[in-house]
Amino acid sequence: AVMASEKEAALAATPSDSPTIFDKIISKEIPSTVVYEDDKVLAFRDITPQGPVHILLIPKVRDGLTGLSKAEERHIDILGRLLYTAKLVAKQEGLEEGFRIVINDGPQGCQSVYHIHVHLIGGRQMNWPPG
Ligand code: C5P
Repeated sequence: AVMASEKEAALAATPSDSPTIFDKIISKEIPSTVVYEDDKVLAFRDITPQGPVHILLIPKVRDGLTGLSKAEERHIDILGRLLYTAKLVAKQEGLEEGFRIVINDGPQGCQSVYHIHVHLIGGRQMNWPPG
């Protein structure tokens, strides 16, 4: 079913350890526009962009990190790597004037995919507070 909104998709999503659509993006079974890739991190364009630039950065191996709220000490390196890579990709995308980093967590945080991901959004003026 087509979800009317990201919020509906998030509220319909069940927080779980089941495989997600991102596994198929990592395996290239589902095509995506990859903007950065190394042995640990994949960065690709969001299919529903919330700005001129909207990229998702994900760990290639989820290792229990369905969301930030599930982080353990063993995840510290990958969490740092995701943020550092977001900075590299922001530069690569020419976001010299700034950008927004978002990690949605759980139903109230509007998380819809339970494989941790960092949103990198830019290319327009952001507002605060977020919705
Ligand atoms: O933070 P949240 O879980 O809501 O973010 C999931 C993101 O994944 C959404 O922005 C959605 O547009 C994106 N997505 C995607 N490609 C898919 C499925 C979801 O880019 N095939």
